[in-house]
Amino acid sequence: MRYSSLIIVTGLANWALAAGPAMSDRFTVSSTCDTAKLDAVLTDAITLTNNAVAALQALIGFKGWLFSSTGTGSFASAAEAAFGVGVPDTLSFGYSVKDKTQLQNALDNYKILQNALVSGIKLNPARHWLFCDSSKLQWTTARLPPFHISHQLLQITIEQFFANSKPKPVKGVKGLWKDPEHKIGTQYIFVRDEYNGGPICGPKAAEGITFQAAGTMFLCPKAWVPTNYKQTLSALPRTGRTTWDDVRNLPGVFIHEMMHMLPIKPHITDEYYRGDRAYGQLRTLNLGLDTDGFPNANPTCLTNADSYHVFATIAYLTSAKVVPEEDKAKPAS
Ligand SMILES: [Zn+2]
Repeated sequence: MRYSSLIIVTGLANWALAAGPAMSDRFTVSSTCDTAKLDAVLTDAITLTNNAVAALQALIGFKGWLFSSTGTGSFASAAEAAFGVGVPDTLSFGYSVKDKTQLQNALDNYKILQNALVSGIKLNPARHWLFCDSSKLQWTTARLPPFHISHQLLQITIEQFFANSKPKPVKGVKGLWKDPEHKIGTQYIFVRDEYNGGPICGPKAAEGITFQAAGTMFLCPKAWVPTNYKQTLSALPRTGRTTWDDVRNLPGVFIHEMMHMLPIKPHITDEYYRGDRAYGQLRTLNLGLDTDGFPNANPTCLTNADSYHVFATIAYLTSAKVVPEEDKAKPAS
């Protein structure tokens, strides 16, 4: 009996793996990537996204009584941390109109992500490339306004591209083109994340980088280090009090980059809180607070990529309480 049970479980696992899409269905994947690990990232990202959609639908339909059900409280905590929507009084009749609008807008964006990951809508391996380091870097055939480079493969690095094209600084940001005014698709090439003109995936670069206009995403080697990010959902602590640094995860990084990649309007960028990009639970939480420290459903939360990583992760951990790193209990001294 024991043996036959094992066969059934193994069979289910194989079926589950076979049922999901591979990353190569969505991107042209660089040979430097471990395809099994990438497929696991996609599978986990779909799980996070499906859960985020269900969580937001539950919150929008929340009528007070739902709050007593297991797990819904973590959804509400996630909405406060990521989208500046305060947790309603358990005796109230749900969220305000303003808060519901904020939740609905977040839901609409997650549905675009869900359609892309699950069904490939807005993703095409002929136009979207995924690299796991910069050693195979080449500019793609994507049409790049305003240079109108098309139908050719430029065998230069992105560093060389930017050095050659002398991009105009935008508002004092030297050597870097950004998208502060949501002008994507009109006349600029845009750089996402912490690309600073130095080597892609270099020591000063971010773990994930997305060049939306070129359809190019990098999940750099630093993203694949378990001490930086939990590599799978199964590695996340599922119960008790934990910190954001213990639960930030690679599938969530991929979601962050996907939100830059997808043609969502207004475009999702990295917003700033007090001079720093709003990465991580503490900054996304602060991004959603008014000057008195109350959640105010700030629309800026909706155009901040990491807010989608934070919400999806906290809403997934229904039995854990995730707190920002700074709130971690200090050891006795
Ligand atoms: Zn970003």
